[in-house]
Amino acid sequence: MKVLKFGGTSVANPENINQVKAIIQNEASEKIAVVVSAFGGVTDLLLNTSEYASNQDLSYKKGFKEIEDRHFETIRKLIPVKEQSTILSKVKSDLNTLETLLEGSFLIGELTPKLSDKIVSYGELLSSFIIAEFFKAEGLDAAYKDTRELIKTDANFGKANVQFDTTVHNCNAYFKTAQQRITILPGFVSSSGANDSTTLGRGGSDYTAAIIAAAEKVDILEIWTDVSGMYTANPKLVKQAKSVSRLSYEEAMELSHFGAKVLYPPTIQPVLNEGIPIVIKNTFSPEDEGTQITKNTNGNGKTVRGISHVGGISLLSLEGPGMVGIPGISKRFFETLSQEDISVVLITQASSEHSICVCISDTDVEKAVNSVNDAFTYEIASHKIKPVIVEKDLAIVALVGDNMKSHQGLSGKMFSTLGKNNVNIRAIAQGASERNISAVILKNDVKKALNALHEIFFEENIKQLNLFVMGVGNVGSKFLDQIKQQRKYLKQELKLNVRVIGISNSRTMYFDEDGISLKDWESNLANGKKADKSLFFDKIRELNYRNSVFVDNTASEEVSLSYAKYLKNSISVVTCNKIACSSDYTYYKQLKKLATQYNSPFLFETNVGAGLPIIDTLKHLIASGDKVNKIQAVLSGSLNFIFNNFNDSVSFHDIVKQAQEEGYTEPDPTIDLSGVDVMRKILILARESGHQLDMNEIVSDSFLPEESLKTNSNDEFFETLKKNETEFQKTYKDAKDENSKLKYVAQFENGKAKVGLQKIPIGHDFYNLEGSDNIVLFYTERYPDQPLIIKGAGAGAEVTASGIFADIIRIGNF
Ligand code: ADP
Ligand code: ASP
Ligand code: MG
Repeated sequence: MKVLKFGGTSVANPENINQVKAIIQNEASEKIAVVVSAFGGVTDLLLNTSEYASNQDLSYKKGFKEIEDRHFETIRKLIPVKEQSTILSKVKSDLNTLETLLEGSFLIGELTPKLSDKIVSYGELLSSFIIAEFFKAEGLDAAYKDTRELIKTDANFGKANVQFDTTVHNCNAYFKTAQQRITILPGFVSSSGANDSTTLGRGGSDYTAAIIAAAEKVDILEIWTDVSGMYTANPKLVKQAKSVSRLSYEEAMELSHFGAKVLYPPTIQPVLNEGIPIVIKNTFSPEDEGTQITKNTNGNGKTVRGISHVGGISLLSLEGPGMVGIPGISKRFFETLSQEDISVVLITQASSEHSICVCISDTDVEKAVNSVNDAFTYEIASHKIKPVIVEKDLAIVALVGDNMKSHQGLSGKMFSTLGKNNVNIRAIAQGASERNISAVILKNDVKKALNALHEIFFEENIKQLNLFVMGVGNVGSKFLDQIKQQRKYLKQELKLNVRVIGISNSRTMYFDEDGISLKDWESNLANGKKADKSLFFDKIRELNYRNSVFVDNTASEEVSLSYAKYLKNSISVVTCNKIACSSDYTYYKQLKKLATQYNSPFLFETNVGAGLPIIDTLKHLIASGDKVNKIQAVLSGSLNFIFNNFNDSVSFHDIVKQAQEEGYTEPDPTIDLSGVDVMRKILILARESGHQLDMNEIVSDSFLPEESLKTNSNDEFFETLKKNETEFQKTYKDAKDENSKLKYVAQFENGKAKVGLQKIPIGHDFYNLEGSDNIVLFYTERYPDQPLIIKGAGAGAEVTASGIFADIIRIGNF
């Protein structure tokens, strides 16, 4: 014999029930027992409706009507017309009783657990009856059996305890004589000694099936549901989760106990005792292998088999100096909870015995706090123990696997992964069996924690990076192009899955929680919501994705001032915007500190020399113990372009104009020509070398006339250039007469920085600098005479985008 159980979704509607029929028809076993749940959603509906009734809220009638319609409609769709009337009248009569019960509850304004069980049992009673009639009408050799006549329990309504001896006896007696091949039975329901309907707890149809399977010592118990087995994590929260083909009973028990809803936890015990395998299968994809649960499987050598979580958890802590070394405190604590029938999900105790923490369900908190505070009234009054401390809105995530005990470092890996993702761990516990390591975390962090852990333990170490890109103009759009082009490579070679989740320009913003398609982001963005910098941030925080990176491709001061709040929420920041790093030293320092504190890198390689690895190199020098003595650099691609092309046959005005038009300058060219841009860059290099410096301490020797610096528009500015052409030509001629070239040089030495135009003689490292190239010479203790030189294209959208890209990869390797 074989037992098959079909859950709520599997029998949710006529179409699905037909699917169930197909599975049953394919079944080769000689005899089968088919346990079914209520039609999907009906149990909740019954419970809500009875709640309304007992609150004397007339909307219970609406709920009842909905229940009635669901069942009538299913009968009309499944059963041939000529056979409908008897079935409809039997169901109608049951529904009348149900209505009377609800009405009774409405009139007296009360819902006892006993009445609640009676009401809720109609879900399974009706579904199983209708399905049995349908199978019969389809010519299957099927009969209906009311499980309440088989499974006997105590009178603990809502979650009754099974009396196995009587139950086994009843089952044996019934199946021994049953003639039909297929027996259809309602799950979840049972009856007490006094023959009142009882239920086995939410999700209890799995348990019904297991009880019958064990009683009849069947060959196999199949749980048919809406997923293809027990997954490495809840597939609704972790997209990458995969079905695990084999699990041991103990592993399955731990996983289900810690929230893998696919199997109701008590289900395993009865079949484990008899060594009956459980197979979890997908009604909607029957060809999938599913999960087989048997005695020790050795886990195919794998350590962590699944990650599960339970929500709705509160942490109670009992602490105080009076607890140390005094026996009996924990006994009294647990006794109090047990007397109140409060189930303890997890326990931790500090070895100092100074505190005991337990996790309980949120719904038990009030009861627990009152009873424990009562039980310790004396100790609390005499300050030996503090009143119970409660933390709500928590969840437990647990790693489960039989083989975990023989491996070191798993908890280290688990906690460091959670830490890196800034998941705050409130308590931890590891069972002595070492089959389970649990962490208590905030409810809001569950999705992030599960995904981060899943990535580390199951996904060949592919790390997902979630990017939020602000600014998709010149640089930003090139950056998106580069990601699009390199995605496959990054995944295959660097094990990085780079996804762009949000983008924004100054007009609109657009999000796709599954990753924006980089083929048509432009049209999606154009049709996106109105851009709003603060809503952009709110959305990122709300999504709470692991490895979130905010990419700033703007030149906006407002955006640069928002970095702190990103970092504080563990969102890394990558920016080509120089404002933050060249603003107040305290802000720069604060950002660096936050980055360390919140494990969220703050990277700005492109602030100096676009894509050239200048800052990264400097960081490595410093980290390895070197000291920077002097930096000499040509850091402005724009000024370099201008002075490389300026001579006595063209006007300075025209060259600057050309540079602006070709995108070599900032939109406001004075930022480049006044030297501010170069000052910012040398400031950043000085700071990255470990020096405290501010903009106003940098000496700037401007080559521009005073009036050019005071203009209010680009037009005015260009006018002044025309006016002062003779001055510019003179500067050029002076340099030429000395066989030198003009370069705008930044220098940092002995804690002081200066910038200005210099005449560079032949033979100098700067002399042959082409086009818009940048060059930096680092004179350090290790490179005292021959400097370390970095040289190359230092401006342009493409190289800047690649510099940002490099920062993203650095975060990937972080
Ligand atoms: P049924 O109605 O068939 O009994 P349930 O809703 O009780 O189905 O259980 C199946 C659901 O369990 C899945 O749809 C899934 O959302 C959830 N679930 C949670 N954790 C896991 C897990 N680790 N593996 C598979 N499913 C899980
Ligand atoms: N119908 C019950 C519930 O929803 C039992 C089950 O489906 O397992 O809890
Ligand atoms: Mg279930």
